[in-house]
Amino acid sequence: MLELRNIKLPLDSGLPGGEALMTRAALYALAPHGVVEEQLVQVTLHKRSVDARRKSDVHFVATLLVELADAALESRLLQAGDKDIAPHVPAPDPLEGLAEIDGGLSQRGPSLEDRSARTPAAAPQGIPPRPVVVGAGPAGLFAALLLARAGLQPLVLERGEVIEQRSRTVAAYDAGAPLDPDSNVQFGEGGAGCFSDGKLTTNITDPLCNYVTSTFVEAGAPPEILWQARPHLGSDRLPGVVRNLRERIIALGGTFRFGCMLTRVITGADGALQAIEVADKRDAHSFHDATPETIACGTLVLACGHSARETYAMLHEEGVDLQQKPFSVGVRIEHLQSDVNAAQYGARAAAHPALGAADYKLSCHLPNGRGVYTFCMCPGGQVMASASEPGMLVTNGMSRFARDAANANAAFLVGVGPADFGSAHPLAGIEFQRRIERAAFELGGGTGSAPAQRLGDFMAAISEKAPSPRGHREIAILQPSFSRGVAWRALDDCLPAFVCDSLRQAVPLFARKLACFDDPNAILTAAETRSSAPVRIVRGANLQSSCPGLYPCGEGAGYAGGIMSAAVDGLRVAQAILRQRGFLPS
Ligand SMILES: Cc1cc2nc3c(=O)[nH]c(=O)nc-3n(C[C@H](O)[C@H](O)[C@H](O)COP(=O)(O)OP(=O)(O)OC[C@H]3O[C@@H](n4cnc5c(N)ncnc54)[C@H](O)[C@@H]3O)c2cc1C
Repeated sequence: MLELRNIKLPLDSGLPGGEALMTRAALYALAPHGVVEEQLVQVTLHKRSVDARRKSDVHFVATLLVELADAALESRLLQAGDKDIAPHVPAPDPLEGLAEIDGGLSQRGPSLEDRSARTPAAAPQGIPPRPVVVGAGPAGLFAALLLARAGLQPLVLERGEVIEQRSRTVAAYDAGAPLDPDSNVQFGEGGAGCFSDGKLTTNITDPLCNYVTSTFVEAGAPPEILWQARPHLGSDRLPGVVRNLRERIIALGGTFRFGCMLTRVITGADGALQAIEVADKRDAHSFHDATPETIACGTLVLACGHSARETYAMLHEEGVDLQQKPFSVGVRIEHLQSDVNAAQYGARAAAHPALGAADYKLSCHLPNGRGVYTFCMCPGGQVMASASEPGMLVTNGMSRFARDAANANAAFLVGVGPADFGSAHPLAGIEFQRRIERAAFELGGGTGSAPAQRLGDFMAAISEKAPSPRGHREIAILQPSFSRGVAWRALDDCLPAFVCDSLRQAVPLFARKLACFDDPNAILTAAETRSSAPVRIVRGANLQSSCPGLYPCGEGAGYAGGIMSAAVDGLRVAQAILRQRGFLPS
């Protein structure tokens, strides 16, 4: 199988029946090598992105997978020295090499899945064999999947609800019900990103990214995420994918306990992990009232996410090494999606049905030393009420798979660091977040509505003034989408001054890159504070923390950011455990 790269495709190739245009493009690329149609067996899409640099010629750029009738012809083409023709190398399986260790496996059947039928694989002397995974977000789920595939029958503990119930709890909160501090947009099966746009874009270039994407497709995600340059799952598809992943892990011998919270780690005389303490809401109204339960545990994957504030406090108390970590705060900004489409694709191409809702990513470095950027852009989406503690106001964004809502939204953020936290305490970043979230909650009226301001008023530093419509079109259409409603306020009253000043300085710079960015009727909603973890749980080369046996993992550990990199980190931690137990080659 060959990869044909940098293939220019017309937008119509993205419409039903567009395959013929792909075949024609493949033939055109192979014609200089004398390949004719009869020699083509199959042409499929491997990767596709949009090239909209010239608005008069918006098109796709693709990598096609081509199978030729004659293998000798394929190798001749590979020797032709054409930089755009390469061999196709399938994605590696993260359990590659497992079979060699256990020669017996081959006798048990072809696939690695069979290992689940065995009793849990032995652990080093004195260490309970079953690993425990805390957190059923992307990191925890992928760590649990790999450990289960390898026959270790992991126990997964999740403080929040199972996804079916969690979806109802989140919908009730959106509709005005009180916040459930244990089951909300941050906490519960599927983790933080479950009610999101489910973007799988990432800055990491790890070969395991493909394994994550194909695992999502096996769990019911739309197959186009395999070839989209910027794939996303959508908040309407994610819950089903998460449920199927859970069922697969259970079928492989894993166990889940929901409404079960890790409340303590217990170490032995050597400082290594020996057991954990959990609180289970099965028999209690709250974790606080639950009778503590001790579980023997020598291997703990701690994938608790960036909002696990009580867990960070517990780790600090137990003497586990933690560090302050930079992150970013700011607002969510909303524009009309149609304006973003026109700005990115040009008015003519923006109407083409093969082009989805456009996205954008902007950044700059200011003379005041601050970095400002847009983040987690959700085309055709909604601003989400994403608090996890009562009396706090936190924004984030989501889109359905179709990305068909009227507004585009993105986080508009300013980098912050230890110098801003006002104390050297490892958890000072959390207190910095809380101060802003509390101020936003109060400024919004103390009911869970968010403070919001039109960009024009924000730029003019005008406070408490009703929005000043420039024209009926904008006001009639561009309305705030925050799920619990907004109160028009001056955002300077809940955000640090350096944050507001930096955002103001960045607006004209971003407007040079995205024409509609400085639309005075754009809407700013506060406050966006959970861009990534404010704390790092220090881990060594073997991915263990200062407490041997405890593996910090995912976004909460401070080593990942986003669904894809958290999932990959979960896989890497599971591989480290299998290596440590001698099941994977070192
Ligand atoms: C609204 C929203 C939209 C987002 N959109 C995107 C996006 O489009 N693309 C993207 O890449 N990223 C997105 N993110 C970020 C992404 O969700 C996270 O980076 C990712 O989920 C991190 O995965 P994780 O497994 O490390 O942690 P989480 O997903 O945070 O999972 C941690 C889990 O641990 C549980 N937990 C915490 N403490 C305990 C405890 N003591 N005991 C038991 N369980 C515990 C929590 O309940 C939670 O379910 C979004 C986040 C939010 C909130």
